[in-house]
Amino acid sequence: MTKGETKQIEKMARAHGLKDFKWIQPKSIITGHWVRAKCIYGCPSYGKKACCPPELPSVGECQQFFTEYRSGLLFHFAVKFENPEMRFAWGKKINKEMLELEREVFLAGFYKAFMLSANPCRICEKCKASKQECRNPGVARPTLEGFCVDVYATARKMGYPIQVLKGFEEEMNRFGLLLVE
Ligand code: SF4
Repeated sequence: MTKGETKQIEKMARAHGLKDFKWIQPKSIITGHWVRAKCIYGCPSYGKKACCPPELPSVGECQQFFTEYRSGLLFHFAVKFENPEMRFAWGKKINKEMLELEREVFLAGFYKAFMLSANPCRICEKCKASKQECRNPGVARPTLEGFCVDVYATARKMGYPIQVLKGFEEEMNRFGLLLVE
């Protein structure tokens, strides 16, 4: 990608209020089987959401996927809520902005543009349990964790803060990714 193209995409991101980001080489993204294991054993959403495992590619396919891109924008969101319930509306808005950015970048000619969201898909009030039943398959996107990304290790490698939280009153560090070339 040329310098002009990266500037063009950065400008589009900022126009969506997505101002905290770093370019990342997708092959440097850290993934792990353990991430999928945590989805299967411990997450109440497993098997209940159209954009979560087991409705996602296998661990190996996710890992292969990242090798097919030369660049990506890693977005950072640091946020704290007085009322933890507010995180759902916030997540929905952030996902929407990222999705619109993905579309704009695609329409600008970057045909491989693909977004992995910072928050689980919450377009519908109640998510469907399978991909086939998804009400908005054109815009539903999985999270980084859903694609087996070790978000902690990847974020720290990129110089971003992230820590295990003990409660919703603590500041959260969330991450999304726009793959593009
Ligand atoms: S669009 Fe609706 S059904 Fe599909 S993943 Fe998102 S919330 Fe679930």
